[in-house]
Amino acid sequence: MAIEDDVLVVGGGVAGMTAALAAADEGASVRLVTKKQSTLRHASGLVDVLGYAPDGKLLADPFDALTDLPADHPYALVGAEAIRAGLERFDAVAGELYRGGHTEKNALLPTHGGTVKPTARYPASAAAGLASDDRDALLVGFETLTDFDAPLAAEHLEAAGVPFDARGATVSFPGEPRADAKVTRYAHALDEDADGERGRLAARVARVHDGEPRVGFPAVLGQEHPADVRAALEADLDADVFEVPMGPPSLPGIRLEYAFRAALDDAGVHTVRRPVVDYETDGEGRLSAAVVERNGQHIPHYADSFVLATGGLVGKGLDSDREAVREPVFDCHVPQPEDRYDWFRDEAFGEQPYARFGVDVGDDLRPRDEDGRIEFENLRAAGSVIGGYDFATECSGTGVSLATGDAAGAAAGADTQ
Ligand SMILES: Cc1cc2nc3c(=O)[nH]c(=O)nc-3n(C[C@H](O)[C@H](O)[C@H](O)COP(=O)(O)OP(=O)(O)OC[C@H]3O[C@@H](n4cnc5c(N)ncnc54)[C@H](O)[C@@H]3O)c2cc1C
Repeated sequence: MAIEDDVLVVGGGVAGMTAALAAADEGASVRLVTKKQSTLRHASGLVDVLGYAPDGKLLADPFDALTDLPADHPYALVGAEAIRAGLERFDAVAGELYRGGHTEKNALLPTHGGTVKPTARYPASAAAGLASDDRDALLVGFETLTDFDAPLAAEHLEAAGVPFDARGATVSFPGEPRADAKVTRYAHALDEDADGERGRLAARVARVHDGEPRVGFPAVLGQEHPADVRAALEADLDADVFEVPMGPPSLPGIRLEYAFRAALDDAGVHTVRRPVVDYETDGEGRLSAAVVERNGQHIPHYADSFVLATGGLVGKGLDSDREAVREPVFDCHVPQPEDRYDWFRDEAFGEQPYARFGVDVGDDLRPRDEDGRIEFENLRAAGSVIGGYDFATECSGTGVSLATGDAAGAAAGADTQ
């Protein structure tokens, strides 16, 4: 029997999962096809909307700078209400796992490198670490987890001018994991607490704790039971405990992915973990199927409406070789300078042209060809496969995925009803 749905979403990152939920909310039957884990596992778990204005100024309120964005920026295309709708959907998915929904303003969070990052939503586990809080903080690192150098991070935070004294200390983690142990190894040990790891860790920290009212750890405090792990450490240390977001792999990102998956199950979205390798059209400007590879077979998945949410250069939603940058699933046009040397600038820091590469969409999020014509009537794009913004420089990654995912999914779902 042919596989047929109202809406088919390609890509299971924040953009694709959000689009699938929005389409299901419209009453559509939805299938999500994704090949691998999304970049959520690489990201910090912070949900940035817009941290920096185009002139590089730190933004207290992301909505203040929307009118300064270039006309082809995804936020300029979808507008403020779409950003709010995306955030509202995020809050419904994340629930108690996240904070920040009480205001439109950015919060300032310490990072594992000791910088301060503007962000719109942050894990509840990081809440006691806010850089705007003036209570002194002790940062604790583990000897075997060298990605987080707590004394150095504390020094950097003080140099960044935070309104509190920060001090760092390094302790050994109970059980002395190997230096190459995955972060999930620490999290599982604390989740299971089989040999009293929570109490043993607290006892080691107590030796270096000088009464600071809050204590920050690398974000490895439990995968299944993070709230219990934190509560146990807080009780033993008599201090608030917070997690400092880390680089990949990111436990907060993994926890968020699970929350999204639960929401997709609740919404009745069917998830297929396979790559889309080709497509079929009806010959009249509409897609009819995305072709999915399964054990060497090519299986068409039919739908009325499609969302492309395959990510950017990191997620492999865009492919590049020496000749060109391509969108490999539906072969949509990706604007780019003809000369490859214009893809990059010589400066080590600052904006790079390639960071803005992506498919060209209009305000209806339909990808357009090089002459500005719509590629397929029933295809919309969402997330970092869209061009026109540099998520790393402006701190807008997850926000763009939420806003465009929600808008593309809702429109795709509505089209089919
Ligand atoms: C290292 C790093 C750190 C980051 N830190 C932050 C941060 O602190 N805050 C923030 O807000 N944002 C951050 N971001 C950005 C943010 O993670 C991304 O901008 C955003 O999540 C992109 O989501 P997406 O859904 O568009 O793409 P992705 O998350 O890349 O998801 C795309 C999905 O599509 C799948 N896919 C690709 N091709 C196919 C195919 N042919 N068939 C089926 N499936 C396919 C991929 O496997 C993947 O699962 C970070 C990103 C990176 C890489």
